Amino acid sequence: MNILAIGAHPDDVEVYAAGTLAKYNSLGHKVFIATATNGNIGSATLSMEEIARVRKEEARRSAAHINAEYICLDYDDEMFFESREARLAFINLVRYCKADVILTHNLTDYNPDHELTAKIVRDITVMIPIAKLKTESKPHDVIPALYHWEPLHSHGFLPTHYVDITDFIEVKKKMCSEHVSQIAWMEDNKQFVADENEDFFSESLITSRFRGIQSRVRYAEAFRLADNAYAVRAGSLLP
Ligand SMILES: [Zn+2]
Repeated sequence: MNILAIGAHPDDVEVYAAGTLAKYNSLGHKVFIATATNGNIGSATLSMEEIARVRKEEARRSAAHINAEYICLDYDDEMFFESREARLAFINLVRYCKADVILTHNLTDYNPDHELTAKIVRDITVMIPIAKLKTESKPHDVIPALYHWEPLHSHGFLPTHYVDITDFIEVKKKMCSEHVSQIAWMEDNKQFVADENEDFFSESLITSRFRGIQSRVRYAEAFRLADNAYAVRAGSLLP
């Protein structure tokens, strides 16, 4: 299968789904990692152009750990709004990847870029085969299955599926550690984490451990099957 993970910012996919994607890769599936924005506000010192370039390179290095292709739609960080053009860009992305399965944010999250990414993905899955919607990539015959990963700190999220990522937790850590600019950014922005010992990446390991306890393995990532028509499949396409 072709697996497409779509996050809002470079590093989201690693925090929420890197273990699952590493597992897909180990089973021989083709993985694509995409982000809606280029993360161009993620630095106190670099210009927006410079930090966007740095973050896209970090995302590329992270994706390389699991032979994934990284694609950035290059919208502005925290200034991503719904439009005709964005909808078509997302349709084109899914067609280009010929995605059988899409993983993305939850529809309810703390961040508007996360929520809009989830909404557009949810809205466009049904449009992928429709020929009248012209994009650079040709219509793809499959309406992909859609799973939402949990929001940061999991508020209000009730999983329908758990993926055992115990054998892939080290790959997840390595992928997260490629985001050097964001580890530095969080050092200077501790208001976004629980305490001074944590960052987004270390907190995500705690979440993976908690989901592991819930599902009786060491580490797990949790997902919720989309509840709209055509996104649902019997059984599970998660690894
Ligand atoms: Zn994000």
